[in-house]
Amino acid sequence: MPFEKADRLKALPPYLFAEIDRRKKAAIAAGRPILNLGIGDPDRPTPQFIIDALAAAAADPATHQYALDEGDPGLREAIAAWFRGRFGVRLDPATEVLPTLGSKEAIVHFILAAVNPGDVVLSPDPGYPPYRGGTLFAGGEIHLMPLVAENGFLPDLGAIPADVLKRARVIFINYPNNPTSACATREFFTELVAFAAKHDLIIAQDAAYTELYYEARPLSILEVPGARDVAIEFHSFSKTFNMTGWRLGWACGDASLVAALQQMKSNLDSGVFTAIQRAGVAALRGYDRPEIAALRAVYRERRDALVAGLRSVGLEPNVPNATFYVWTRCPRDVTSLDMASMLLERCDIVATPGVGFGPSGDGYIRFALTVETDRIAEAIERIGKLNLTT
Ligand code: PLP
Repeated sequence: MPFEKADRLKALPPYLFAEIDRRKKAAIAAGRPILNLGIGDPDRPTPQFIIDALAAAAADPATHQYALDEGDPGLREAIAAWFRGRFGVRLDPATEVLPTLGSKEAIVHFILAAVNPGDVVLSPDPGYPPYRGGTLFAGGEIHLMPLVAENGFLPDLGAIPADVLKRARVIFINYPNNPTSACATREFFTELVAFAAKHDLIIAQDAAYTELYYEARPLSILEVPGARDVAIEFHSFSKTFNMTGWRLGWACGDASLVAALQQMKSNLDSGVFTAIQRAGVAALRGYDRPEIAALRAVYRERRDALVAGLRSVGLEPNVPNATFYVWTRCPRDVTSLDMASMLLERCDIVATPGVGFGPSGDGYIRFALTVETDRIAEAIERIGKLNLTT
């Protein structure tokens, strides 16, 4: 059947990784020994105590019916209790917390709930692609905010043109950041909250990586006075508990923003399987268990191995304090797409070209710490044979 996709799908930017993806699949099919440092998906399984909680909950027929639009009350309470313990912020579980099917859908659906055609959404460059996709779906306009090393990969709020600011409705930020791995300072969050209040902006902070940290514990923007009136924050079980496939997260913050997201979602999905929400309660209650600290320790060891290794072969990685990404400058005059091709063709290594996250990502390549340390050592040995200099 001849079929024309809707304009909103046609408006999405071309998929920059398509050619690399095609070559990666061909290399795997040809039996080449590919090392995949491209994907941000934990390689280890979900901790057993969470799987046990799911199994017990799934055996209870009460979980088999439609979930509540507003989420399981037990999970909302558990999120509020965890948030108080972790960030010292008291959230009202009835109005300021909403369980979601992971954070990705929550982000896109929030844009649909908040942005009118013609509204501007301020979005980080490089940045997680759904901020842009969601804005296009809503008929909004994207204004990219470059994140550069000289500014600690924080947006320069003073550089946003006045006419853009007038039409801007939402500002997206993401700390700890994918792909740069930068963390926000309290000063930046404080400046941003004042800026948002002054310019009548909604802050949408993507906090998917706050628990994947190595030294200092990253902040929630809701810790900053005044943030609760202007911000919504998106959290995820995916990386904290190795639960990417389970689809569980939450949004929290200003009650009217959370209510708008709930109204949008109640027209689109029927909530998260209640058994998974109960498993989420077990996960949050078990946050201080040694299994969870052990996950961080595994990534820390891999981070140290990759950073030291990349330096030893002449590259300049940023040392992440959080996330499982190592954002690395390409050698001088090498674009990120050329670097990704070279790694794939000559080293059988998959890494993500920075330009896929936006134009300011060019000149960088992102390595994910989602393989074992011996595979990282193997990757370094292969890259060493390229004799790179920056
Ligand atoms: N936000 C960022 C910055 C991410 O990198 C990801 C996933 O990789 C997500 C959100 C989505 O996570 P999930 O939908 O699994 O909660």
